[in-house]
Amino acid sequence: MNRVQLNAGVPLYVYQDGDNLDDIQEPIAFVVSKEGILIKRANKYYTGYQKVQGIDLLGKVENDQQKAQYNFPKLSYQVFEEIKSFFQYIYDRDQTEATILLYHNEETGEWTGIAPTQENSGGGSDYKIDDKTKEHIPEGFKLMGSIHSHAGMGAFHSGTDDNDEFNFDGLHITLGNFNSNVSNSCRYIFGGEAIKVELGDVLDEVPEQENKFPEWWSKQASKKTYTAVQSGYFHGRQYAGWNGHYPNNNFGNPSVKKNEAIRLLPGY
Ligand SMILES: [Zn+2]
Repeated sequence: MNRVQLNAGVPLYVYQDGDNLDDIQEPIAFVVSKEGILIKRANKYYTGYQKVQGIDLLGKVENDQQKAQYNFPKLSYQVFEEIKSFFQYIYDRDQTEATILLYHNEETGEWTGIAPTQENSGGGSDYKIDDKTKEHIPEGFKLMGSIHSHAGMGAFHSGTDDNDEFNFDGLHITLGNFNSNVSNSCRYIFGGEAIKVELGDVLDEVPEQENKFPEWWSKQASKKTYTAVQSGYFHGRQYAGWNGHYPNNNFGNPSVKKNEAIRLLPGY
């Protein structure tokens, strides 16, 4: 184990897979591990490792120093408008939600929307990045966020959205009210933390040209069909195997596999 001697006189160990805590001889020691910082306390009667909240021996990082700074590239307004027009098309065609993933090329600064294969309903958008999706992702582009529609409902980040997005670093926009004036809600997610932002903060300038989404997006989206709706719940609350976009719902389907965490920065 890597050992660091702190000024305060207590050693700090950096724990890695394969290390053994029994190798630590000192009665008091800090251990930095996947679980956070642990403190070893050992005496005649007790030896144990406890999670550390505050360490009086160490200096305090003031809140203003902890303030996050982000330097996220502005999303192309043109791409945003294409996506909005696609959601409107899907709403008019199917009365459902839909999802477009945001890909960015760091070299050229370009953005492009990618429609993942998706099954949508009025209360949810179930998507996957399968081979059919991957063939559309241009060389050099990296997944940097998502935009999804809430069909006729307002734009907010639902419990389902939290599940989908907290493991997915980047820009996440919800657009709603496709039955009237489109509303939006935007946030960045970094390391599982959300930073609420305004649409005007995340877009670059307004272009002149008309924005029409690519034809292939519409072929990726299909309307979800339900075989049975159980009785006893109001509309939308009891679709078997479907985790919809209702606020604070507890109807998540544990068999739905969550995506691997998508992290823009290594080490989370
Ligand atoms: Zn949502």
